[in-house]
Amino acid sequence: MTRTLTHYSGGAHVKGTSGRFSDVYNPSTGEVQARLPLADADEVRAVVDTAAQAQPAWTATSPAKRARILSRFVDLVERDMEELAQLLSSEHGKMVPDSKGDIRRGLDVIEFAVGAPHLLKGEFSDSVGSSIDTYSMRQPLGVVAGITPFNFPAMIPLWKCGPAIAAGNAFVLKPSERDPSVPLKLAELWTEAGLPAGIFNVVNGDKEAVDTLLDDPRIKAVGFVGSTPIAQSIYERAAHNGKRAQCFGGAKNHMIVMPDADLDQVADALIGAAYGSAGERCMAISVAVPVGQETADALVATLTERTKSLKVSHSFDDDADYGPLVGPDALNRVTEYVGIGVEEGAELVVDGRGLTVEGHEGGYFLGPSLFDHVTPEMRIYKEEIFGPVLCVVRAADYEEALALPTDHQYGNGVSIFTQNGDAARDFASRVDVGMVGVNIPIPVPIGYYTFGGWKASGFGDLNQHGPDAFRFYTKTKTVTSRWTTPNAETVLAADRAKS
Ligand code: NAD
Repeated sequence: MTRTLTHYSGGAHVKGTSGRFSDVYNPSTGEVQARLPLADADEVRAVVDTAAQAQPAWTATSPAKRARILSRFVDLVERDMEELAQLLSSEHGKMVPDSKGDIRRGLDVIEFAVGAPHLLKGEFSDSVGSSIDTYSMRQPLGVVAGITPFNFPAMIPLWKCGPAIAAGNAFVLKPSERDPSVPLKLAELWTEAGLPAGIFNVVNGDKEAVDTLLDDPRIKAVGFVGSTPIAQSIYERAAHNGKRAQCFGGAKNHMIVMPDADLDQVADALIGAAYGSAGERCMAISVAVPVGQETADALVATLTERTKSLKVSHSFDDDADYGPLVGPDALNRVTEYVGIGVEEGAELVVDGRGLTVEGHEGGYFLGPSLFDHVTPEMRIYKEEIFGPVLCVVRAADYEEALALPTDHQYGNGVSIFTQNGDAARDFASRVDVGMVGVNIPIPVPIGYYTFGGWKASGFGDLNQHGPDAFRFYTKTKTVTSRWTTPNAETVLAADRAKS
């Protein structure tokens, strides 16, 4: 039976009233399993009203008390991990262990944000002038919004709301319309953890809801993650309206394979990083760059064999390597890209098109595809495909390999596999990309460092999570104070005499 979902505001579920809905699919079967209400402008403004009313009391709550609620929230998510992971897989399509990883990586950042009392400390300088001290404090912005993508429906909302709430803001989340149920469950858990009503809110919707948030003067900051064209347009509109914005976009992550790399280790890493979660990860490796013909020939031979042995099945098949794509549009888009690669003259070594899974014929499945002899002029190299497609671009030497990710429009993640420390150091220093892995295929930084891509992968100047998140969700006030009581010496002397 098709469920009808809600928004969440003021500590409770709220029915949609716009009369507009979108379909939430089960990607393993192709069935519509839920209807999602799409908020109109009035509904969005009502949610912002609720958040704005709740925020001052939350700001006045001490950071330590706020942090205790975050700790309780972590325990509750751990308690419900299995149920949340199943729900996430049923809407996204990733395997259940991947869903647990999605939730766990989100919790890492909530755990980091529990350190808010320390992270919110200001600075103090004694006697910067005669009787003058200077100090700074970090104050919350007010109401802030997060607009998040389908591919990490738990992790990215948690990356955004954890630091924002810990810093004393009220938060309005506009999750992806494709897998909104986990964010709604997280809202329930925030309430159960003791978060006051109105501090974490979920408003479901599409462009209308997003534009309303961007144009509402009470929203002081916008954290966005999604595709590059939307990231750029949201950044521009938010900036035009005087808001703080950090907007993260698409990616084309390369892995450089040096001739001295251990090819078995490389192949293992590439198979997981390129095809895991059906390639629907912003840090997925979508381009392998073997250096030298011998490395390339050996790598392509190993990859071909391993790619053909991958098992694609529904999200609850424990033996599967990965599951379906998120929906029909994604399946069509990625299938089309495979055709474009063939037309452009790349060599399609493994063709994943036309896959069906027995008993799940309506699911959005695509087998793994592997292209060799891809060149930088091709669209399959220049554009983000966001599916289980790996492109091999052969480089003659290290400098040519280094230039590929450096010159690419995207700059999210990159990786080098080598046994040569000098090459690794040089690469990490010179490559024009925000997150670098050395013998690590997916270099997602841990929660107390920051996460963010460069070039067309990120708009704005502060990264997600880590200390940057607290800088993003607070404003700094600097106080310069002088205390000069005309008879200060007499008062102090009198005090001394009394004691
Ligand atoms: P998307 O851009 O389609 O959607 C992201 C969010 O924007 C959703 O909430 C969606 O409802 C909203 N949106 C979509 N169109 C809009 C419009 N015209 N106006 C206003 N809002 C709009 O992205 P997606 O398909 O959900 O996610 C996949 C993309 O996200 C990929 O490009 C991937 O690389 C990227 N991504 C990047 C990172 C990163 O950290 N850089 C992380 C995860 C995903």
